[in-house]
Amino acid sequence: MVKFNKVLQNIKTYEAGKPIELVVREFGIAPEDVVKLASNENPIGTSPAVAEVIRAHATKAHLYPDDSMFELKAALSQRFGVKEESIIIGAGSDQVLEFISRAVLNEESSVLMSGVTFAMYEIYAKQMGAKVLRTASYQHDYEEFIEAYEMRKPKIVYICTPNNPTGDALTKDEVIKMVKAMHKDTIVVVDCAYMEYAAAKDEQYRVTPQDLMEYENVIYLGTFSKAYGLGGMRVGYGIAQKWLIDQLYKMRPPFNISTLSLAAAIEACKDEQFVTDSLALHQEQIGRYEAFAKEQGFAYIESYTNFITYCFEEDRNSTQIANGLLERGVIVRDLASYGMNALRITVGTATQNDTFFRHFKAL
Ligand SMILES: *Cc1c(COP(=O)(O)O)cnc(C)c1O
Repeated sequence: MVKFNKVLQNIKTYEAGKPIELVVREFGIAPEDVVKLASNENPIGTSPAVAEVIRAHATKAHLYPDDSMFELKAALSQRFGVKEESIIIGAGSDQVLEFISRAVLNEESSVLMSGVTFAMYEIYAKQMGAKVLRTASYQHDYEEFIEAYEMRKPKIVYICTPNNPTGDALTKDEVIKMVKAMHKDTIVVVDCAYMEYAAAKDEQYRVTPQDLMEYENVIYLGTFSKAYGLGGMRVGYGIAQKWLIDQLYKMRPPFNISTLSLAAAIEACKDEQFVTDSLALHQEQIGRYEAFAKEQGFAYIESYTNFITYCFEEDRNSTQIANGLLERGVIVRDLASYGMNALRITVGTATQNDTFFRHFKAL
């Protein structure tokens, strides 16, 4: 039998949100009746302008993409007011997380993150044989972070703001305070996958790459998968000082995003109206989820993202509810595997949300 690396024994395979196809297969529900609110995808769909560009590039599939990604970097450079040399593009910001882990971690190192946060931080760390440290609370509690940091001197500290799968966030001031408390030999990853939603809700929560640029050991991560509606295209980015980006570039495979993905992301940068519309729909619909929780008598976490997390007492079981909804064609995320009796629900369109409320009540 093949002997795999020992580190693999400790890794639990990432469990993605269940696909629509599975519900169709297992429960015989028509695909158009399935409501997927499990992966924080943009419920509006793909921007029509972007879809058009993807179609137009279909005949260019034989060509490798521009490996310098010049146009995309120029667009991001303009949006964020940073130099192109400070940007690295990944196949999702996930891939940038992987570059960071591979660039600095080994069997002697550890990483520090909040008690409940994005699952991939742990997986990439374990792939490198590194130890994973978590604070007791899911919020990014300053005292808890500093205590663990001083004791264990981790190589990477993850600040996920807004946090997934809980939806809470830190203000810009809180992020800067945390960043300042870390030594220069630690990489601080500020993962802002949902920043567009947080910034639209409350300016105090807006963190920009520029806010962090003066700190040589900090990297800002963003993605096109959420507010920009391009989850299926797999495009994300890291922004940091040039010397750090130069090191990450050594981990990057050539042509790491596809010709279609590159064209889509460039076009998405031009279609700000799509993002504005997405944020407007979200802000209008999330209030319904808050009202529903109050009406049904359970708690939720104040959300700065495109999803909401419902937290239950003993009288409700998140796994049972998630399974019941699934049989009715509504896919949500059960957080039992994160140690929480909670559900994470992506806020959908008005119709999708109606369906969710109806089936939840019926259960
Ligand atoms: C969705 C998400 C990402 C990145 O997703 P990609 O599709 O790989 O860009 C990163 N961090 C968090 C917290 C996320 O929720």
